[in-house]
Amino acid sequence: QVKAAHGNGLCFFDPRMQTAISQRVQLETDLQTALVLQQFKLHYQPQYTLAGTIVGAEALLRWQHPERGLVTPGEFIAVAEESDLIVAMGDWVLRSACEQLVAWGREANLCHLRLSINVSARQFRRPDFAQQVIAMLQQTGAPAHLLKLELTESLMLDNVDDTIAKMHQLRTKGVRFSVDDFGTGYSSLAYLTRLPLHQIKIDQSFVRNLGVRPTDDVIVQTIIGMARNLELEVIAEGVETEAQKKFLALHGCDLYQGYLLGRPMPVADLEVQPPLWPSPASGGGVAVL
Ligand code: C2E
Ligand code: MG
Ligand code: MG
Ligand code: MG
Repeated sequence: QVKAAHGNGLCFFDPRMQTAISQRVQLETDLQTALVLQQFKLHYQPQYTLAGTIVGAEALLRWQHPERGLVTPGEFIAVAEESDLIVAMGDWVLRSACEQLVAWGREANLCHLRLSINVSARQFRRPDFAQQVIAMLQQTGAPAHLLKLELTESLMLDNVDDTIAKMHQLRTKGVRFSVDDFGTGYSSLAYLTRLPLHQIKIDQSFVRNLGVRPTDDVIVQTIIGMARNLELEVIAEGVETEAQKKFLALHGCDLYQGYLLGRPMPVADLEVQPPLWPSPASGGGVAVL
């Protein structure tokens, strides 16, 4: 064991730090392997209107680990984001999402679904990000207007001019944008209005405290009101209770996503979520023209 002993006898070397570093290096190696072995998969969390119609889903990355089972992003995204690993992973997510949209396009009852994907700062800041997305849409034949990119407030505002330029390039092709985790990033309204956005996603930390923390009630009302005034669609994430949904509905929230309505799930499960399949008993068949 190495010890950096200084003249005063103080030890500047913490073995716990060594452990943390080697764990991170190990995780990076494992993630690289996971990419090669195709251990990543996407789960899909449905997004509903108040009336209960599925309008789309958010793709959420999962790591099917041979020993640890299904691993969620909380355990690996931060490490991936510190290196270009996130770029390779992000490309994989983008390709998979586009391919999924193409597959849904062949089904009469699925072809209207929008798909949102999460984009990391490191990926978005690459000079060729917009061209990469456009190339992927062309390669796969995915309909651009059904692809939505979720960007966080802090990502968008970190370099507003670069953000606006890239968003406009993609908007021209039909790609849509949502501000993820809205309310957590201290956005300036003036900046927000300069961005070609479609949707604002209320962060789940506010939704969780609806009816519990009066300040969060006010924040959520304010966000919904602001979104309406800016003519943006507003979606709430992390909706877990009927009471939360009711509050959101009362104030005019457009779309709902959360465990109350559906957890992130494998694509095969999403494809049979009611009311996607009209039951023969209801008489509501899907017209295939
Ligand atoms: P996010 O984009 O804000 O996604 C929402 C997270 O909340 C997801 O966690 C989702 O499973 C969880 N969630 C949904 N409904 C509820 C609910 O009702 N209650 C609670 N408690 N949680 C709910 P997940 O899948 O673990 O993802 C965490 C974060 O990892 C995401 O936050 C996103 O920032 C990041 N992430 C996920 N997939 C990707 C990806 O493909 N690329 C990148 N760059 N980041 C990703
Ligand atoms: Mg998201
Ligand atoms: Mg979010
Ligand atoms: Mg989040």
